Amino acid sequence: MDIAIVGTGYVGLVSGACFAEMGVNVTCVDVDASKISRLQLGEIPIYEPGLDIMVKQNLEAGRLHFTTDLSYCIDNVELVFSAVGTPPDEDGSADLKYVFEVARTFAQNIKKYTVLVTKSTVPVGTAKKVKAVIYEELKKRGVDIPFDVASNPEFLKEGNALKDFMNPDRIVIGVENEHARNLMDKLYKPFVQNNYQVLFMDIPSAEMTKYAANSMLATRISFMNDIANLCERVGANVDMVRYGIGTDARIGAKFLYSGCGYGGSCFPKDVRALIQTGRENGYEMCVIEAVEKVNTRQKSVIFDKLFNIFDKKLKGRSVALWGLAFKPETDDMREATALVVIDKLIKAGVKVSVYDPVAIDECKRRIGNVVTYCKNMYETVLDADALVLVTEWEQFHFPDWKRVKKLMKGNVVIDGRNIYRRKDLEKEGIICYGIGK
Ligand code: NAD
Repeated sequence: MDIAIVGTGYVGLVSGACFAEMGVNVTCVDVDASKISRLQLGEIPIYEPGLDIMVKQNLEAGRLHFTTDLSYCIDNVELVFSAVGTPPDEDGSADLKYVFEVARTFAQNIKKYTVLVTKSTVPVGTAKKVKAVIYEELKKRGVDIPFDVASNPEFLKEGNALKDFMNPDRIVIGVENEHARNLMDKLYKPFVQNNYQVLFMDIPSAEMTKYAANSMLATRISFMNDIANLCERVGANVDMVRYGIGTDARIGAKFLYSGCGYGGSCFPKDVRALIQTGRENGYEMCVIEAVEKVNTRQKSVIFDKLFNIFDKKLKGRSVALWGLAFKPETDDMREATALVVIDKLIKAGVKVSVYDPVAIDECKRRIGNVVTYCKNMYETVLDADALVLVTEWEQFHFPDWKRVKKLMKGNVVIDGRNIYRRKDLEKEGIICYGIGK
């Protein structure tokens, strides 16, 4: 089977590599010519564990191709996936300009029946608009070529993307007719054979499922952060509360961790887009609006703690930061909490030194040299008044606290992800402040 995937970012590249791994002949298309040149040489522009090997093997096997030009493969493919970005617009709604651009390119190039499948996260009703764009372009060409649109939202998690794609909890597919369903059925047959759930539904429900899923996960995080903040004020320990409620089968233990707020390319923008969809339809999404509000506040928790600990006198202090990426195992810094913490500290006149195993280049690209970039986690703490853990990379789990204390000027650690045992640090004369304890 031959398919094309337009947009070679986190989702498009992972999907392309994984479909190729399953024997599909995949052409990945992107407007970014330098990205495509690197990929043609087997160089991966993002950090995602295992992706480099999978791309290289499938390139060598001749099942994975990279191009800037959809017309190069359009005659051979049955399905064209659109996996371009849907960044937030000024009002919080999803900016669909790239999605429509792909629809136009699709319509300008098809010569036979082809299905355009949207993998990007798009608001309910987008498929209808995509169809209108295609009809308009076909009309301009003066041709009447049959086509279908479908929705296949992606649920992979950065950092675990290959495993998530190959072993999904479920695959959601929205279609309008049997034609498109048959093609999607054919593509996902290996998943069905491996007993993964493929859920067919109407397109609006598929589009909505993605937003509902991300908003539900974000809700659990903001809920726990709210509970954590109250725990601090009443002398309870949020970790105990988490065990206490996570053991209830109706609640479950996953996604109940409190911390310094969620970031990333999905939760923040998808939550805002859902709120906006509500507004556009005359409906106030009260729960989701609160989720967003709590998260914005939570991203300030680290700064607020430092502000209080140092008695509002932060100017001239030195703070070390461990972790820049929005979560471990990725170099993605979109809406990362680290950016908020750094910004607030710099504005308060603090000298900030940072370390992340893979996101340093990305951080330099975003904020330049306003912070000191270090080669390892210990270099950051040299002469620091405080150390802040923002991203819980595995290598930060068991630091040599003796060494840390010797290098630091002060003795304050803020554990933004609740991974440390306070008593381990106390032994070395360090005071550890968690979230909700
Ligand atoms: P990304 O920004 O990493 O990649 C998008 C790619 O699309 C870029 O390489 C860009 O050059 C390319 N592009 C833009 N316009 C194009 C065009 N007209 N033709 C060809 N290529 C074009 O984005 P991403 O993180 O992969 O996200 C893509 C979509 O998937 C978004 O809607 C996102 O919400 C959704 N999603 C992302 C994740 C995730 O973890 N990143 C998970 C699930 C869903």
